[in-house]
Formats: sequence, C-alpha cells, structure tokens
Amino acid sequence: MLAITELNPQQAAAVQHPPQGAPLLVIAGAGSGKTLTLAARLAWLVQQGADPHRVLMLTFSRRAAAEMARRAGRLLHQSLGLPSNTAPPVLPWCGTFHSVGARLLRDEAAHIGLAPGFTVLDRADAQDLLAITRQALGLAADEGSGQRRFPLAPTCLAMHSRSINTRQPLAEVLAAQWPWCSAVEADLQRLFAAYAHAKLQQQSLDFDDLLLAWWHLMQVPALAERIGARYDHVLVDEVQDINRLQADILHALAQQGCRLTAVGDDAQSIYAFRGADVRHILDFPQRFDPPASVVTLEQNYRSTPQLLAASNAVIALAAERYAKQLWSERAAGLKPRLITVEDEAAQARGVADAVLALRETGLQLKRQAVLFRTSQHSAPLELELVRRGIPFVKFGGLKFMEAAHVKDTLAVLRWADNPASKLAALRSARLVPGMGPASVRRLLEHTGPLDAFKPPPAAARPWAELLALMAHLRNEGARWPDDLARVTAWYRPHLERLHDDARVRWADLQQLSLMAAAHASRERFVTELTLDPPEASSDESGAPHHDEDYLILSTIHSAKGQEWNAVHVLNVVDGCMPADLATGRSEEIEEERRLLYVAMTRARDALSLWSPQRFFVTQQRAYGDRHLYALRSRFVPDALLSHFDSVQPQAPISGAALAACETAPVFDLGAALRGSWPAPSARDQGQNRG
Ligand code: ATP
Ligand code: MG
Repeated sequence: MLAITELNPQQAAAVQHPPQGAPLLVIAGAGSGKTLTLAARLAWLVQQGADPHRVLMLTFSRRAAAEMARRAGRLLHQSLGLPSNTAPPVLPWCGTFHSVGARLLRDEAAHIGLAPGFTVLDRADAQDLLAITRQALGLAADEGSGQRRFPLAPTCLAMHSRSINTRQPLAEVLAAQWPWCSAVEADLQRLFAAYAHAKLQQQSLDFDDLLLAWWHLMQVPALAERIGARYDHVLVDEVQDINRLQADILHALAQQGCRLTAVGDDAQSIYAFRGADVRHILDFPQRFDPPASVVTLEQNYRSTPQLLAASNAVIALAAERYAKQLWSERAAGLKPRLITVEDEAAQARGVADAVLALRETGLQLKRQAVLFRTSQHSAPLELELVRRGIPFVKFGGLKFMEAAHVKDTLAVLRWADNPASKLAALRSARLVPGMGPASVRRLLEHTGPLDAFKPPPAAARPWAELLALMAHLRNEGARWPDDLARVTAWYRPHLERLHDDARVRWADLQQLSLMAAAHASRERFVTELTLDPPEASSDESGAPHHDEDYLILSTIHSAKGQEWNAVHVLNVVDGCMPADLATGRSEEIEEERRLLYVAMTRARDALSLWSPQRFFVTQQRAYGDRHLYALRSRFVPDALLSHFDSVQPQAPISGAALAACETAPVFDLGAALRGSWPAPSARDQGQNRG
C-alpha cells in the first residue's frame, strides 16, 4: 500500500486541503486515484488530530464501502505507525447512504415517532405493499374490463421513487417519463398517500424513505444540529451518482459545520434510473459559500496505455462530455481484444478457456473478473464454470434474497423487531401448518397481544411454537447471532415439509448464519442485507472459502470502483449493451455508454470484449423457438477498431444472415423469414436458457 509521500502533486494537494477551508471536490477519470486520495485524506486528517469515529464516509454500494474502509484503515494504520500485528483502527461510520440513513433513523427514531425496530422494505416488499394498497383502493378493479388501465405496482413504485429521489412534483415526473399516466395523476396521488399511511401503520420504510426521512431530520434545526454534531468530516466517494435528495443531505451536513470532501467522475455516472444526475457533481462547487475548491487528477495508475486509449476513445464519443484526457505512465501492454463468437455458449467456453490459460501463467482467478450488463447474462457462463469445476462468486442482483427460504427466515426476524409489520406477520404466519388464508387474515386484523390470538385447532401446536419463538426473540435476553440459530432451528421442519430440495436450501441458511456473525445486531444484519443483498450463497461477505481462489462474476453496477488484472466483458452487442430497454431515449443510451466505459476501465493489464453473434431464445407461442442475431455494440463502431485486436469467430455465420443484420441492430430473423426459419438443431436446444 502506498505511503502518502508517493502521491502525485495533485493528489497530495487534495489530501492536504486545509480542513478549515472550503469544501473540496476531486473530479477525475477512472483509475486516477480518487478513492486512494479519499483514503489518504482520512489518514492525513487523523494525523492532524481528527477522530476517526467522527468521520462519516459515504459511498454507493456495500462492496465499495467495504473497499473504502479497507484502504482507509490500512493507510491510517501505516500513517499512525501502528505495529504491524495490530488491527487497523475501526471506522464506524463508513457505509452506503442508505445504511447510514437507516442507522441514524434508528438512533433518532424516538424523536420522529418511529419505532426503533422499524422494518426496511426491500423493493419486492415495497411492491407487494403498494399492490395491496392499489387493490384496496379499487384501482386495480377495471383491469381487463376494457376501461382505462391503471399502471401496475412496479411502475407505480418507480414513479414514486423518481419523484422522491429527484424531489420533483409527481406531475412533472409523469409528464417527462410516463406521459400516458398523466390522466390518472389524482389516483396516483391517492395511492401514494395511502401507501405512506400503510407504511407508517406498519412501521416500515422503503429504500427511498431512508433518504427522505434523513433529509427531513436535517430540516428540523435541533435534530440537524445533533446529527451534524456527530461528525467533523464527511468524505464521499462516487459523488457523480448522488441524486437530488442525497445532494441536499450533504449540503445540510455542511451547513451544520461538517467539512466535506467529495470525489467522483462524471463519465462514470450510471444511476440515472435511480434519479442520479451528473448535474449535481457539476453544480456541487457553487452550492457552497465559499464555493468548493476543485482538484482534477489526470494520471491514470490503473491501466496500460493501450487499455486506456481504447476506454478514452469509447467515452470520447459520448454526446455530452466534460473533456478530460487521462494518461498512463505504465509500460506498454497489449491492445484490448474484441472477440466475435458464434453464440453465448461459445462465449462461455471461450471465457473459461481464457481464464484458465491466464491462471496457468500464474494469475490467480481472484485477479480476473467477468462483467456483464444484467445478472442473467452470465447464466450460460455459470453453467460452463460449474461443468469445469472452476470456482466463482457472483455479485449484483437479488437472487439470494428472493429465495423463499431466505425471505421466510428474514420475515420472522423482521416480525420480531417490528410487531406492526403486516408483511412480516403474513409471511411468518403462512408457514404455520393449519393456518389457512382466513386465519391469516384474522391474525392480520387482530389487535392486542399476540398470545390472545386463537389459531384454528389444527394449528394449535405449531402456532404455540411460533409464539414461543417470538417471545424469545422479543425478550431483552435475546442474543445475536444466536437468535438466527433459533429461527433456523424452528424453521427447519417447515423447510423440509415445504420444499423437496430442503438440503440445498438449508445450506443457504447456514450461509446466512455465517454472514450474521459479521453483524453487530439483529436490526443491523436485517437492514444491511435488505439494502444491499448478496447475489448467491457464495457471496464473499462471510463466505467460508475466503482464502480459496475463485473467479469474480459481477454486474457492471456492482463492479464500480474496483479493479482486476484481467477483465472480460460479456455480450458487448446491441440489445445487451445498450440494453434493449434503453434504445428509446438518448440520455439512456448515454448512460449505457458510460456503463461500458466503467466496465472497460476496471482492467489493469488485459481486457476482452466479447460479442456473440447469435442468441437462442425460447418462445411460448407464435414462432416457437428461434434465434436472434446481434451486432457488435454501437459503442465500438468501426472507427474505433484500430484500438482493438479483433479476433474472428471460429465458425462464422452465413454471409446472408450477416448482411440482413446490417439493416437492424437486433432483429428477429425468424419473423423476418415469416416463420420459415429451420427448427433449431438438437445442440442448440441444449443451450436453451429457458
Ligand atoms: P475509479 O474511478 O475506478 O473509482 P479511482 O480514481 O478511485 O478509480 P483508485 O481505485 O483510487 O482510482 O486507484 C486506481 C489504482 O491506482 C489503484 O491500484 C491505486 O492504488 C493506484 N494509484 C493511485 N494513485 C497512485 C499513485 N500516486 N502511485 C501509485 N499508484 C497509485
Ligand atoms: Mg474509486
């Protein structure tokens, strides 16, 4: 790890920016040492006398927060000259905006009429609650009746979320993004009011509420003062991804006297779908009085000049761009490879071959990563890796938390923390054999102590067991992580009754127990897991095989801020990158371009962009199974090819099919041929991703 004396002059200036002066913004390209500068600044501030317990470090994902804490802890350790056998100092306030928000709200709950055991709803729970509310208000009634259609719960949640995160009135949000829903604005308002009411009744907050409520805390002078008094410094990484609400929270903290340092890169802004807006980073300096000082960094330390040139060329084609050209002093390396393969199966085989070949040269699997736009894109590769026995962990996405058994277990913990949560009560009660829908409904309407509820006779015993478990969990004497062991012990017979593959699921719950041990308390565990869930039971946080070697699979969003020696990017084709969904609006296309830039700039020495030419999809109706042909991503047009080594497919597809592809970025050849496309071969059927 680097000593502060090895920083370049701009980095050193940022690190030693006078703490009493104006806020500081470091704006610079990928791999220029922004995160390192932030970590070094923390170490320097502590050397100057700052208390690490009074420094708030904020970023966007749990992994990035962990990485920031690790780097800052190490530098701090080194700069304080602590003996090498001692642990680095603890940074208790290093986390994501949402997790810090949740902690502050638990601390301040009593002052704002919230139970400290309040539940954090994940997106799926929030959608469920919104759907129930929508039904209760009769807004779902006219579906299918030929009358006006009311937007479905997921769309309603997206509208609500956007309006909150951008602090824009609903009418404006609808006009800009969902104009066909403007006519039902009044009903939507009614729905959101009822949704808010339901959340309050159940003492449950959704993700957006965590920021919104934090912002509200900052509007009450006495509370704002108390929160401001907790911190002397606020350090923010990846500030390009903040939304209006987060920007306002930072501003309010600064007004309370917290000294602000933020670092970011406008070219890596990839969260517009959550209301982030690069304008916040660009307007940042002027929001303060005196305005924030701005430092830019231009030297890239991460990548070889060849990789950097290709990434620079890709981002240079962005429609709107705040030009900064990065340079690298690293020795020359290989150009990035642009590899065209026949289909996704060939891509999976090729990636696995390449990964193993590099490992033969001594590069650990852990130093190699495979990145993709969406979680599903890695499915064929995962099969290939399993088949060949190549260990991997996967980040990003929600699979693990969506598993019924994990949701069941967490619901019981949530219900223990928050007796008002009807969603948690519903999920827990449904597990009790003998509790039919009518009894569950009766339970949800039941007021008064839980043991006064009369279950149906058939459910008497299992209900009593659940009651005993609840009584234990709600008791002062409950201990973490023992509580989880009690819950899983209670759950095990139900698991076996409900699922044929109980053994596999039980392994997941054991995994959950390992993760639990890494969290200080039950609420912290449940909240953190809800906010930033691991993808699979093999997630690194608390995984048993910490020191084994494994390949990293990650969505690009989850790869932010990280680096690997060798990086493969899957499905660099139109329809995947940019995603099909994004092909409408130019801002969305630009965000997809930045995503590719983020992916490419994760690589230190070797980079491969893969583009399969043919995708196999299964259709339930109409044309039956069919192929889709894809073209190389529009973000790597012919003009950029000189930056890449192009590798051609072993088995090129027919010239006619390719010629047809020229006319449309992604198109359905089967349909184009009016269904006369030959039936897929048996081999292709084997690749069906179903
Ligand atoms: P990103 O935009 O991807 O988040 P970043 O700007 O935060 O990147 P870092 O991750 O901090 O960049 O640094 C990239 C790499 O460069 C790291 O391996 C870091 O240790 C190294 N690095 C940064 N500054 C220096 C320096 N002055 N001397 C040597 N190595 C450096
Ligand atoms: Mg960084």
